[in-house]
Amino acid sequence: ALKSCRQVQRALLALTIPLEMLQAVKSRMLQAMHKGLSRETHAQATVQMLPTYICSTPDGTEKGDLLVAELCQSHVRTLWVHFSGDWNQKPQLMYKIFNMPSDIMQGKGEALFDFIAQCVQQFLTGIGNPQNHLPLGFVFPFCCKQTQLDKAELISWSKDFSCSDMEGKDVVQLLQSAIKKQELYHVDVVALVNDTVGTMMSCSSGEKPCEVALIVGEQWAPPCDRVVGAERSCAGAHSPSLSADKGTNSCFMAEAQQVEMVDETSGRMCVNTEWGYFGDDGTLNDILTPYDQRVDQESSNPGEKRFEKLVGSLYLGEIVRHVLITLASEKALFIGSNFAVLRTKGVLKTHQILDFINHEEGMAEAKSTLEALGLQPSKQDCCRVQQVCGMVVSRSAALCATSLAAILSHMRQSRELERLLVNVAVDGDLYRGNARFVEILQSVTRLLAPECAATLVPAVDPTGLGAATVTAVALRMAAWRREVNQLLAPLRLSRADLERVQTLMRKEMDLGLGQETNANASVRMLPTYVHGTPDGTERGEFLALDLGGTNFRVLVVRVTDDGIHMASEIYVIPTDVMQGSGEALFDHIMECIMDFQLKQNLMEQVLPLGFTFSFPCQQLGLDKAVLLSWTKGFNASGCVGQDVVQLLREAAHRKQHSGLKVVAVVNDTVGTMMACGHDDPKCEIGLIVGTGTNACYMEEMQNVGTVEGEQGRMCINMEWGAFGDNGCLDDFFTDFDRLVDEKTINAGKQRFEKLISGMYLGEIVRYTLLALVEKQLLFRSKPCSKLQTKDIFQTKFLSTIELDGLGLQQVRTILQDLKLQATFEDSVLVREVCQTVSLRAAQLCAAGLAAVVEKMRENRGLAQLTVTVGVDGTLYKMHPHFAQQLQKMLQVLAPKCTVTFLLSEDGSGKGAALVAAVACRRTEP
Ligand code: ADP
Ligand code: MG
Repeated sequence: ALKSCRQVQRALLALTIPLEMLQAVKSRMLQAMHKGLSRETHAQATVQMLPTYICSTPDGTEKGDLLVAELCQSHVRTLWVHFSGDWNQKPQLMYKIFNMPSDIMQGKGEALFDFIAQCVQQFLTGIGNPQNHLPLGFVFPFCCKQTQLDKAELISWSKDFSCSDMEGKDVVQLLQSAIKKQELYHVDVVALVNDTVGTMMSCSSGEKPCEVALIVGEQWAPPCDRVVGAERSCAGAHSPSLSADKGTNSCFMAEAQQVEMVDETSGRMCVNTEWGYFGDDGTLNDILTPYDQRVDQESSNPGEKRFEKLVGSLYLGEIVRHVLITLASEKALFIGSNFAVLRTKGVLKTHQILDFINHEEGMAEAKSTLEALGLQPSKQDCCRVQQVCGMVVSRSAALCATSLAAILSHMRQSRELERLLVNVAVDGDLYRGNARFVEILQSVTRLLAPECAATLVPAVDPTGLGAATVTAVALRMAAWRREVNQLLAPLRLSRADLERVQTLMRKEMDLGLGQETNANASVRMLPTYVHGTPDGTERGEFLALDLGGTNFRVLVVRVTDDGIHMASEIYVIPTDVMQGSGEALFDHIMECIMDFQLKQNLMEQVLPLGFTFSFPCQQLGLDKAVLLSWTKGFNASGCVGQDVVQLLREAAHRKQHSGLKVVAVVNDTVGTMMACGHDDPKCEIGLIVGTGTNACYMEEMQNVGTVEGEQGRMCINMEWGAFGDNGCLDDFFTDFDRLVDEKTINAGKQRFEKLISGMYLGEIVRYTLLALVEKQLLFRSKPCSKLQTKDIFQTKFLSTIELDGLGLQQVRTILQDLKLQATFEDSVLVREVCQTVSLRAAQLCAAGLAAVVEKMRENRGLAQLTVTVGVDGTLYKMHPHFAQQLQKMLQVLAPKCTVTFLLSEDGSGKGAALVAAVACRRTEP
């Protein structure tokens, strides 16, 4: 007796998996999942992680009538479902089950699909022939290569099916053609639905969607007696769905960018793990018992689905049977009875096993079941059988929990959450039928994924209602996507659009350079009287001013043998000074200069001063610049038409400051080019993408019609921000651009700049978001008063929101600060809007630059031009993609130019000093 007890204990121990081992299995599952998700390793992965093309969960607004056709073991089920668009109302549902003649399963593929289509046709007749448009979701539980929601090639048949001429064909297309043959022109097959996704969807409720589904064992199937319809037709009292196959599988909402088999990088996608195959590469060998090995050998697919064979309900009875055979042969069970009956495959069913361990009458159940098999179990036998069954079921639950924990941890990590709260839809006879199973499933999941809180929700009609829900969600998403695309389309520029912009820019450049045409050009092409880039021999100590954007800076620059040294001070220019009187503005500037000189102990010296003044000026000499117009939020009165150097001198006079020697006024583009030119002699272009945008480049004097002289080159300040002010870009402006422009203090002016630069991108995004809200495509159409506020959506938000790898959670935080309650999908859309707006800006900038480099190449008669662009501006520097997109598009638009971009460090200050140095060298021979 003691010996037999030890033998039983040994069997039970073999079936026990210690916690550390479960932990190891969890990390192996995580590895297997990564392998399945990665593009390189996907093909060899055991856990395939198949994309389902379902990118959303129900939000309750799903609305309308639709159909589902479900192919099952021996029948076809058809459903009609009505969604009201309101969570509080349950969807209306009618269905019918059709027996399938067995010859169809092995006949021609065409006959199978014709049969399904006929079922749909008969069903529709039975419910009164509704003639409205009916989208149909198709539940087709065979191995397919799905490439779109409505495109899936059959890879292979399984179960009892093997229709001819089918493999490699698109099953959605086949069903659609068959349905056409039935003249059901109003029925559209829109989605192929996987049963795990159906399970997940059937459990989603308004408050919190289910984002994981778990199937363990046979799925819930509709009882025949609830069939609604004219005529009843049914495959028997119990009509198991074929799909789950009494095995186990799962799906979950993964981050789309991790699903490398799909190009989508934003948002989420439901992934069907196909985890039943976990372990087929040997990863589970160290937990397999001899019983498991025998079950596998006797199965129809030895070596395959090793995980499923430890967990799925088809196999639990078999595992128990092999344990009992071993114990009986060791004389630890059924002593004296002939146990040969146990050698027959399938004599113990999983539901019987569950009965043994379930109730208080479990002992009695065991006794009568075993007796019915011809065994004569003693009371102790029954007790031991019960223990074995309990252990096999517990192991199944623990392994299931382990893999679920792997999914939860994966989700938590990829969403960058400290804690994941999630609903998990569960289905299968093991889950429904056994309290012990559920208890272990929950407790082991908690142990192995302590940072995740999973609420298990039992599924209801996963393949019927679930499939209908999937279809409804897919339709909602498709309609939403169509409308979003329509709204964003004007912001998306084609290559042809950009080529047109490039051509227009070139035309405006030529107009701007011409003596007669200059007045009508929107691109002013202003001469700068800078004839060359630095040669590196410049030396001296200079003052520099940088005015023209967010900050006003005063600098002292020392150009020495061992480099350029600078000290600077930033001063704020209050908006009321920017937009007050010119005198007040220049007085303020003088006060800042004096403060700086005091702080730097420079009061006694008279240093030559270079003035970076980044507004359009007609320059009459290096130190004489007449302001043409204010831009970028400046509007001080009495300045336009005046020489800004003179205005500064007058202010110095008013302040009784005599130590000011202005030798050069430069635009910030020129300063940037000069500063970069100090390091790279190929730098002959300056570009600014900050508060505003502008560019300058070295033009041939003979092309500059507005300045006397034909020799050499001169730097031209393009003032390209005003490109389009004559209407030549009107086709490209969107409603959002017009709204942004209207609200500026220089409406109708600087139209190109308003598509590109930091002062405006946030505003374009804001108006686009408002339009999306109005069209009920964003923020669940809730009113967002904060979003009505000008400049509340800053351009720097674009940089944060578009950062790669930054969890959308953080996008949500930014939006929350704006009092915007964003769902996950809202965050994805906001990011898409930001990307669209910044991409357009970068591409337009590229089109402008392409015109410049191409002109320089032509000027010089070169087949290939190699040139460097000195760049400054916070938008260019801080935005995660702007620079790269700009360079990429420039290469496309100007393939004959090799363009390098050099970031300027403090370019406008340094550059002004260098221009001053060049000027001083000239005057002091
Ligand atoms: P300016 O052009 O006035 O000399 P900057 O080059 O610093 O000044 O540009 C300032 C502009 O850059 C601001 O108007 C703002 O819109 C934008 N900006 C500031 N921070 C960021 C950021 N992180 N990403 C993108 N743009 C930014
Ligand atoms: Mg600047």
